[in-house]
Amino acid sequence: MPSYDLVVIGTGPGGYVCAIRAAQLGMKVAVVEKDQTFGGTCLNIGCIPSKGLLYASELFEEAGHKFAKLGIGVSKPTLDLAGMMKFKDEGVEGNVKGVAFLFKKNKIDTFMGVGRIAAPRRVEVKTHDGKTETIETKNIVIASGSDVARLKGIEIDEKRIVSSTGALVLGKVPENLLIIGAGVIGLELGSVWRRLGAKVHVIEFLDRILPGMDAEVARQFQRILEKQGMTFQLSSKVTAVDGSGAKLKAQVEPAAGGAAQTLETDVVLVAVGRVPYVGGLGVKEAGVALDNRGRIIVDAHFATNVPGIYAIGDVIAGPMLAHKAEDEGIAVAEILAGQAGHVNYDAIPNVIYTYPEVASVGKTEEELKAAGVTYNTGKFPFTANGRAKANMQTEGFVKILADAKTDRVLGVHIVGPDAGDMIAEAALAIEFGAAAEDIARTSHPHPTFTEAVKEAALAVAKRAIHI
Ligand SMILES: Cc1cc2nc3c(=O)[nH]c(=O)nc-3n(C[C@H](O)[C@H](O)[C@H](O)COP(=O)(O)OP(=O)(O)OC[C@H]3O[C@@H](n4cnc5c(N)ncnc54)[C@H](O)[C@@H]3O)c2cc1C
Repeated sequence: MPSYDLVVIGTGPGGYVCAIRAAQLGMKVAVVEKDQTFGGTCLNIGCIPSKGLLYASELFEEAGHKFAKLGIGVSKPTLDLAGMMKFKDEGVEGNVKGVAFLFKKNKIDTFMGVGRIAAPRRVEVKTHDGKTETIETKNIVIASGSDVARLKGIEIDEKRIVSSTGALVLGKVPENLLIIGAGVIGLELGSVWRRLGAKVHVIEFLDRILPGMDAEVARQFQRILEKQGMTFQLSSKVTAVDGSGAKLKAQVEPAAGGAAQTLETDVVLVAVGRVPYVGGLGVKEAGVALDNRGRIIVDAHFATNVPGIYAIGDVIAGPMLAHKAEDEGIAVAEILAGQAGHVNYDAIPNVIYTYPEVASVGKTEEELKAAGVTYNTGKFPFTANGRAKANMQTEGFVKILADAKTDRVLGVHIVGPDAGDMIAEAALAIEFGAAAEDIARTSHPHPTFTEAVKEAALAVAKRAIHI
């Protein structure tokens, strides 16, 4: 029976990064993956394909609407959807193959099949050809990720009623796309299909979009999306979808209850979140404790209640983000090697890759108010940023929240071009315990969008220059 220091179950960003770090630290490592390819949700049906389609559809829209303003004459762009899907698939393939290469490079053994914890030190793999292999290991890291959350009574067929997975492979642009849920995934995929020609209508249970994000950011972002043509119906719920006719018929009711209306649409995207996935793992039999939302309970060292079994990523509490899973993968590998692995959950950025992008790190104004923390706000709009003006990309703003007593940066929220790249500076500032003054005194290259971050930091002390 093969024997290892560590077996990682799942090769998403949590699992594969954990395996590589453990191998770097000298452990004998194996991974188990039930799907045909490595990389998990993120690389196969999540971050990577969605970003490929967001990029391509953004250029399609720009070519149709913006190029003329820049003095570029092109004939009306035509959509080759199959070509765009191929472009997306090649991006996925490149990434997935990259993980396989890294496993080889780091001498990590791979087992393809469903991994089940047969005992604390034993994993059984049911391989795709029906065989069972047993592996012995000192430690197990569960990195089994998450699955789409479903709505009772609305059956996802991945053709007309789709989850994010089906929305990434639609064969034609729907005339009407109804999205249930105004979270990150719904708004990203909604943007893709709107740019390609669909009329996109978003129904959200709460009275705002992007629950959990800074409310001012969400309000401004909703206005921007509405200007782009997306429509929103807040405080509403879809209770049923009838697929018997040529058009889907969705029953929509006020969230608080009341008279229902029927909306006709071609495709419904169910984007109401994700749930932890523990299928086939045998966590119950192994005695691994779950919380009331089905997440594996871990301590500060990612250890479950069963000695030798750890868990990371979407299957445990915390934001369901690839980089959070990666950071936890590194931390647990280092802990297993006797080092001081650690994740700072106050400095995990969150990005929505629409146009403009939305990015945040640290606390929202609502969180600071609820915690009774006094803070100063520095805000700077892209209308006053030189590069944004030159590029005609002036929508949005940077907002910095700094502790009123110490000036320490507590939260940064950006709506604007390249916000997802710019937020890395803010994450670093929070990680290093920087003050707004530190950002304000740091030289930022001109002309760049990043100057808006510096100006927002100056604005914390009411001394922004360009406004
Ligand atoms: C459409 C979409 C877009 C997204 N975009 C972003 C983004 O832009 N940025 C971002 O940070 N996050 C994004 N996410 C979220 C991101 O994909 C997840 O947070 C991330 O993949 C979690 O990583 P993980 O390693 O915990 O799990 P996963 O990536 O879900 O990987 C888990 C792996 O475990 C395998 N597995 C499960 N059980 C077993 C078993 N018993 N035996 C063997 N293998 C098993 C699964 O097959 C899978 O490969 C997106 C998600 C979606 C759906």
